[in-house]
Amino acid sequence: MSSSISQRIATIRASLPASVRLIAVSKQVPTELMRQAYAAGIRDFGENRIQEAASKQAELQDLPDITWHFIGHLQSNKAKKALELFDWIHSVDNLHIAQRLDTLAQQLGVSPLVCLQVKVLPDANKSGWMIPELFNDLEALNQCKNLQIQGLMTIPPLDLDDGEVLNVFNHTHKLAQEITSQQWLNIKMVHLSMGMSGDYHLAVQAGATMVRLGTILFGNRS
Ligand SMILES: *Cc1c(COP(=O)(O)O)cnc(C)c1O
Repeated sequence: MSSSISQRIATIRASLPASVRLIAVSKQVPTELMRQAYAAGIRDFGENRIQEAASKQAELQDLPDITWHFIGHLQSNKAKKALELFDWIHSVDNLHIAQRLDTLAQQLGVSPLVCLQVKVLPDANKSGWMIPELFNDLEALNQCKNLQIQGLMTIPPLDLDDGEVLNVFNHTHKLAQEITSQQWLNIKMVHLSMGMSGDYHLAVQAGATMVRLGTILFGNRS
């Protein structure tokens, strides 16, 4: 078992450009398997539930150099805990939560790395900004001085074919370039968090800098 996780990690790592950060999505994965991934070189773990992350971090305290990425929908009442537990929040998905995180970050004296979650196509099952709304909110986001806005995150709708998924990723890349061209002082667009087990090869083609992989590393979640 242990060799199979490390082999999968080695194979995927070798298939990715060196500049692409591999985030192991460990939601619902027991800490024994996370330790195997760590032993195989993984230092970035992604979680989507605050409570689950808190107990795993307690269990993995002896592994000090992990970077923790929050990738789930964040509720206002969990924002403070998220800032305490996570280095990155990929899933900042509306202005209200961004401003809440900004206020709390100032109080806590932290400067979290964040991505703005966008939907280039409508998707009732996902949160995130539609593109026109994102442009409307950029000025207010630029005022969130305690957030280090690093780029965009996206998840394509479920029912697309590969060509359509690639279009979504390319469109997200283009959106990041458009935002960059507006020269906001406090909004960097240097990261694209996109690509999961089924579509990361397309995301990488479109310029992803971070892929979030769960199933392909750890097997099916129950
Ligand atoms: C679960 C999840 C992933 C990983 O999905 P896999 O298909 O298992 O690779 C990536 N990103 C987000 C936001 C997720 O919730």
